[in-house]
Amino acid sequence: MDRPRGLRHEARRRAPDTDHRHPRSPELNAEPADQIRLLDVQALDVRLSQLAHKRTTLPEHAEIQTLEADLAQLRDLLVAARTEESDTAREQTKAEQDVDQVRQRAARDQKRLDSGAVTSPKDLENLQHEIASLAKRQGDLEDVVLEIMERREAAQERAGELAGRVESVQAKAADATARRDAAVRDLDAETESATKEREVVAASVPADLLKLYEKLRVQQGGVGAARLHQRRCEGCRLELNITEVNEVRAAAPDEVLRCENCRRILVRTADSGL
Ligand SMILES: [Zn+2]
Repeated sequence: MDRPRGLRHEARRRAPDTDHRHPRSPELNAEPADQIRLLDVQALDVRLSQLAHKRTTLPEHAEIQTLEADLAQLRDLLVAARTEESDTAREQTKAEQDVDQVRQRAARDQKRLDSGAVTSPKDLENLQHEIASLAKRQGDLEDVVLEIMERREAAQERAGELAGRVESVQAKAADATARRDAAVRDLDAETESATKEREVVAASVPADLLKLYEKLRVQQGGVGAARLHQRRCEGCRLELNITEVNEVRAAAPDEVLRCENCRRILVRTADSGL
């Protein structure tokens, strides 16, 4: 790329540009005051993109996401604990019915035994044997009931604890959501007022200058116009060399200059160091 160093004056350049990275712009003139106002447009555009960035990167977004993931997990665990609770309740009822049946049968046997109606020694022995085995069976079944009750209590306790945690995380999520909404409201209000201000200022900038700015802004990562401050382009931070400084000095005030390095519109101000 054999291109002479030196600031390009849009108004003077006539030869076709062979540098495809920097297609030649048509000549452009704008009053210095209009060029300065373009810097105001640029500042507002920077502000607007900062606001948009801030809106999407609010810490509350990540906070809410984490809390909602926690909440989903806790709710699943709570559902499992409550299912366990109702399952064990059913199990307990069933086991208690089993105990009752055995108890009733034992009571019937005991009644027959006490009635004296059974007289055959063999039948008496069988009856006594059955009463003894029913007593053992009842004891076993009562142990089963106790074991189920323990599981049921544990599930109840766990469900209670989880319900408490769900409530606490829900409160945290509601708090984070309220903070996020307030922050978004503030940012939206700021964005709205900056957008209106931008419209007003942009309307006062000549259309051709604004059009070039918009094109460069898209190409140059959001910055299309840069102040020349103390001989430094504020777009790319590069200092102009002496040849470039001399060219800027020689340029008419209404010439729209471009930074030789970054190709942004370079705006002269009282602090340009010329
Ligand atoms: Zn530059």
